[in-house]
Amino acid sequence: MKSELMHFYQELDRSLFLSEEYKSYAKRDEALPIGYEQTISQPSLVVHMTDVLDVKKTHKILEIGTGSGYQTAFLAEFGHEVYTVELVQPLQEQAKKILSNLGYHQIHYKVGDGTIGWEEHAPYDRIMVTAAASSIPDHLINQLNNDGKMVIPVGERGYQQLMLVEKDAEGSVHETNLGGVTFVELKGAYGWN
Ligand code: SAH
Repeated sequence: MKSELMHFYQELDRSLFLSEEYKSYAKRDEALPIGYEQTISQPSLVVHMTDVLDVKKTHKILEIGTGSGYQTAFLAEFGHEVYTVELVQPLQEQAKKILSNLGYHQIHYKVGDGTIGWEEHAPYDRIMVTAAASSIPDHLINQLNNDGKMVIPVGERGYQQLMLVEKDAEGSVHETNLGGVTFVELKGAYGWN
């Protein structure tokens, strides 16, 4: 694991992304409610997913599921530009405020269904999906650049496999199973209905 990533994790105050009633739990390595039946992931998982995505300063990144914006901060810190899509408008508005107060101005926000990606700005060097899909949406594979990587939880409601999807220089797709995780469901046209 990169030391800069560990350092950033230690420096970033997770309580900023939580409501008053959960701020005191910020340092626990647990998923916590963020309203609208959604959750912020446990920090160790956010660090792990950021690490395997192998984000670089030149990368254009698509994130599906802005949620609290906690994961978005990691992508903005280590990437070049972040395009983040969230279904629940008030969650994204809140995340945008927090992230711009932190000084992240290279983030582009969209309220909508991320299972269709964000076509206008494709292709992306990296794609991070932080809600559980029943299968990997084709649109996301299509919007991934050659030599690109995507991290996405795929499986049943309540239990999924974290998948690393890699496109090689010729555009062939390879999948690696990184093990079991639990995420809230990805809704939308190519998610759970
Ligand atoms: N990464 C977030 C956690 C997000 S929880 C964080 O660090 O806080 C998953 C988020 O995905 C929820 O906010 C949920 O509203 C959103 N979501 C679910 N389906 C979606 C879809 N089809 N498009 C965009 N966002 C979606």
